[in-house]
Amino acid sequence: MSIKYVPEPFRIKMVEKIKMLTREERIEKIKEAKYNLFNLAAEDVYIDLLTDSGTNAMSDDQWAGIMKGDEAYAGGKSYFKVLETVQSIFNYNFVQPVHQGRAAEKVLFPLLLQKGKVAISNMFFDTTRAHVELAGARAIDCVVPEAKNPELRANFKGNMDVEKLEKIILEHGPENVGLIVMTITNNSAGGQPVSIDNMRNVSKIAKKYNIKICIDAARFAENAFFIKEREDEFKNSSIEEITKIMFSYGDMFTMSAKKDAILNMGGLLGVKNDEELFGKVKANCICFEGFTTYGGLSGRDLEAMAQGLKEGMDEDFLRYRIGQIQYLASKLDDENIAYQSPAGGHGIFVDAKAMFPHIPYNEYPGQALAIELYIEAGIRTCDIGSYMLGNDPDSGKQLEADFEFTRLAIPRRVYTQAHFDIMAEALLEIKKRSSSIKGYKITWEPPILRHFQASLEPLK
Ligand SMILES: *Cc1c(COP(=O)(O)O)cnc(C)c1O
Repeated sequence: MSIKYVPEPFRIKMVEKIKMLTREERIEKIKEAKYNLFNLAAEDVYIDLLTDSGTNAMSDDQWAGIMKGDEAYAGGKSYFKVLETVQSIFNYNFVQPVHQGRAAEKVLFPLLLQKGKVAISNMFFDTTRAHVELAGARAIDCVVPEAKNPELRANFKGNMDVEKLEKIILEHGPENVGLIVMTITNNSAGGQPVSIDNMRNVSKIAKKYNIKICIDAARFAENAFFIKEREDEFKNSSIEEITKIMFSYGDMFTMSAKKDAILNMGGLLGVKNDEELFGKVKANCICFEGFTTYGGLSGRDLEAMAQGLKEGMDEDFLRYRIGQIQYLASKLDDENIAYQSPAGGHGIFVDAKAMFPHIPYNEYPGQALAIELYIEAGIRTCDIGSYMLGNDPDSGKQLEADFEFTRLAIPRRVYTQAHFDIMAEALLEIKKRSSSIKGYKITWEPPILRHFQASLEPLK
């Protein structure tokens, strides 16, 4: 039996028309797009679940803030508002706004990572891994083994494997570990949360070997909500209190504010108390992003950020947001459709390998399901599997991913219960005809990050 939908803690004041093409039109559009969903015009999509990044609906208070943005080049009012808000939420002394999450990575990582160094994470997000590597260092994932088993329901599948972490540190020598990155929630593992207990244990090891911790904080509020629900010690704590405790275990953070801060664009970089490091952050920021009091954003973006950070931590909002995803998950349970379970914070990662056992990894089951979802109901999703992973840089051979997922990422405050019912119905319809669905082959691909641009063709 599916669980009840948590009603929206808001009402709708502005709407955006979306169009629904016919099935025949969608078949034509996806063919024209060379079976790559990134090539579709957004207009031709009915429910867009490509990402939850920057696709959120802002509130009336955020839009009101936009009118009040101070566009001074230096020392604008909106900057000071962000500064105060961020300092009071996270208890970090130094704050630098930037234009998005990867900008914070670009500004910070070269200061801590160089050739010969490694960075270790519970799992790197793709741009985070790219910036570790661009700085000349190597990125090592160290997630708990539960994360790799989609069927297994555990409370904190995003956690760092603490024993393995210590082994990796000793193997490489503590002096060569430039950074530990704690990604909360763990995006690449399916938006799975990280517990405070885990952050505490990672922090003990980091202190023991004198290594700094950077929190990759894109979905910090969703993580705090999961902690409140699942970690007994914190069941009576507020989201604000849990957030302060989580961040007490980091030395710095990078944040894409396009997620839990409910923006369309924005990012943050925080440093707890290392003034010397922050001096270098400011210098890099001026080179790459713009002067320190705007960091690549306009004053109006900063206003929306200060407001969005607070709204994103509202417990009623988080209960509704996570509740939407759990509602969809429970519908999939009813139909025996496998996904990374329990459901994570920002979407459902459907197990395409389980849906299409006859499609091997090198014929891209996750991409095949994404294409079917578009044809079935105009839903746009993406592959998180071997298609996204790509080829071994040395041998040029297709790598096999741990998972073959199709991700339904849910934008914040955008879709309603009826849309969620359509998602579940579409997946059920596809499941009914799953044995007739074929894999795909790539007919053209660029050398890196191929999934954004590649062309595909259905196999006969
Ligand atoms: C989105 C994201 C980033 C990168 O942020 P952008 O705003 O897309 O540049 C980094 N880490 C995690 C965990 C993310 O989800």
